[in-house]
Amino acid sequence: MINAPKKNLGFFPTPIHKLGNLSKYLNAPSIYIKRDDLTGLAIGGNKVRKLEFLIGDAVSKNYNVIITGGAAQSNHCRQTAGAAAACGLECHLALGGDEPELFNGNLFLDKLFGAIIHWTGKYRKGEKIPELVEELKSQGKKPYIIPYGGSNEIGAYGFIQAVDELKKQMELIHEIFTHIVFASSSGGTHTGLIIGKAKYNLPFDLVGIQVDKGEDDQPSYEEVLLNLINFSAKVTGVNIDFNEQDIILIKNYLGEGYGIMSDLDREAIRITAKYEGILLDPVYTGRAMGALIDMIRNKYFCKNDKILFWHTGGTPALFSYSDKLL
Ligand SMILES: *Cc1c(COP(=O)(O)O)cnc(C)c1O
Repeated sequence: MINAPKKNLGFFPTPIHKLGNLSKYLNAPSIYIKRDDLTGLAIGGNKVRKLEFLIGDAVSKNYNVIITGGAAQSNHCRQTAGAAAACGLECHLALGGDEPELFNGNLFLDKLFGAIIHWTGKYRKGEKIPELVEELKSQGKKPYIIPYGGSNEIGAYGFIQAVDELKKQMELIHEIFTHIVFASSSGGTHTGLIIGKAKYNLPFDLVGIQVDKGEDDQPSYEEVLLNLINFSAKVTGVNIDFNEQDIILIKNYLGEGYGIMSDLDREAIRITAKYEGILLDPVYTGRAMGALIDMIRNKYFCKNDKILFWHTGGTPALFSYSDKLL
């Protein structure tokens, strides 16, 4: 069983509200939004939910250093750096690419939160963490490893809890959503939502929009996701064997790859800003909203459907893409 104690880091429940203007503009069924861009810590985002349990685990086991990794503009790394700062822990980040001249967007915030950055060239998914851990141990430190995207059974637990939060909100507002649409990338969010839906016996379809093609020599994302789901279900005491048919993963919007905006991504960011005053991000939520818009246009949904778009954050990355958006 998972017994990672929770460390309160964010502000919950995150709001749910209707996107009336956008629904109208798109001539769409009702679209609602869940604002995990407003989880609070370090400009917010979905990783705060995972970090409450990951950092809780680290603190309860007396680790004094946090290490994780990701892309240079990783939202996960920025939120981890913020969480570590809030808990008085030293934070090391293994970031893909080479040191740039300008530290902007998430990278700027990593620095501001006091994280120590290690540049790892072509490795953008924390592949160099084991090496760095050995180095830190040799300096007498006790590093706690948070995997890429915070996506393991402990991080996913935060999203099982998020489903409980959603269930209570649906009861309060007397709405039952038919579809939840969200960006799916390292799998912790998708995992927690799938297990939570089963655990709390909820009716909606979980429509994950894949945003990262991945590498050809690596196992497919479905495979990774299914393993994480089944392992997490087991250790959290949800005795269900999930299979591929239980996962909805939309792969049509991978475009030219991770972090490269398509015209649809750009349109989604622009119209959500223009019609709702809400900021999406260039890597995840822009792509997920782009997919939602395209699926609405292609009649994926019925007239009476009630769609919840789960905004998973990422706002700071927008500032490092301004030249590609205007
Ligand atoms: C990490 C992230 C996601 C994807 O969540 P996973 O749990 O990694 O699948 C989606 N949106 C944003 C903004 C993120 O930072």
